[in-house]
Amino acid sequence: MKKLIPLILSSLLLVTSFTGCGNRVTNEYYDAHFFGFDTYITLRFAKEDADGKAISEEYLKNTADECAAILNDIDLLLSAHNEDSQIYALNREINMMVDSSGELLSVLDTAYTISELTNGAYDPTLGDLVELWNVSDGGPVPEDVEIMESLLHTGTDKIVVKGNTISKVDSLTKIDFGGVGKGYATQELLKYLSTTDIPYGLVSLGGNIGVFGTKEDGETYKVGIKDPNDPEGIIGYLYLSNGFLSVSGDYERYFEEDGVRYHHIIDPVTGYPAESGLRSVACVSSNGAAADALSTALFVMGEEEALKLYEDGTLVFEAIFVTDANEIILTDGLMKNGSFELTNDNYTIFGAPAENN
Ligand code: ADP
Ligand code: MG
Repeated sequence: MKKLIPLILSSLLLVTSFTGCGNRVTNEYYDAHFFGFDTYITLRFAKEDADGKAISEEYLKNTADECAAILNDIDLLLSAHNEDSQIYALNREINMMVDSSGELLSVLDTAYTISELTNGAYDPTLGDLVELWNVSDGGPVPEDVEIMESLLHTGTDKIVVKGNTISKVDSLTKIDFGGVGKGYATQELLKYLSTTDIPYGLVSLGGNIGVFGTKEDGETYKVGIKDPNDPEGIIGYLYLSNGFLSVSGDYERYFEEDGVRYHHIIDPVTGYPAESGLRSVACVSSNGAAADALSTALFVMGEEEALKLYEDGTLVFEAIFVTDANEIILTDGLMKNGSFELTNDNYTIFGAPAENN
């Protein structure tokens, strides 16, 4: 089960900002931490505006409060657990529902696109299976027959969108946006922040980070990627200058039964937790919702299929794969620009020159 631990030890270890000149320990950021969206949230805002003038504490605090309000609204739209949410209502609805805001349709659209491009490895219609597995509350392992029954009601063909009408072809199908919601929310926060006086910073929602604005000195953020074998430690650092990072791992949420670990990322083909040989996937993309859905999909697909998708180029992303053989595979973009730094001797980077291993 997910442990309630401080953000610093949450999915991503946010270390510090970093420049070519070395580590910086400055007071340039205002940090806000709170719990929401079923995860730890950190907002990090530059304290000076684009002209170098100090931004008032009150303005920074109000901006953080507005971010919390935005997250609250998104939760009311997308959460499968929040009894007041639109998704909760849709999942209990027999027939159809009209969404006037369009926001739900936009998330559904991204989810369906990623689902299609990953051959269903990411599947937003696994709601019933996710409830059946009950991983967040410790299981227990469902009966095979229950899993088979539940699988009959999954698939994006069971929920159809026409105009702004969402129709349930199968009344038992349930949507679960657990694999895309935090990434979408990260993206929405950045959209809002771009309208404020805050010139740069980042937001972190559990395993999802979004970096906004650019500093004149080309600063990047140094993000620790957790060690699946020891989630209080890291395998190394990713240097992120813009865009979104999302991490999916089997160590994030799980329960154990008879010595077997059952984690929260389900293979939509088997209905069981995915066994793809991967322990975690970190995905970088310019789209937050896509990064999130993709990290889940790539985890299910496994290294080989995931790299095929990367090379195919239809979806533009970079990724770090950590295998159960303690190997790290980097996509070409990360390998070439050296944005990942290995710091853990228990791991080797596959294909890297010997001195990097
Ligand atoms: P986290 O929730 O820890 O950030 P992910 O982004 O990988 O991790 O999302 C996992 C969540 O997505 C699960 O808890 C579940 O709600 C949902 N989910 C599980 N398997 C799939 C899948 N194959 N496709 C889409 N969503 C999934
Ligand atoms: Mg995800």
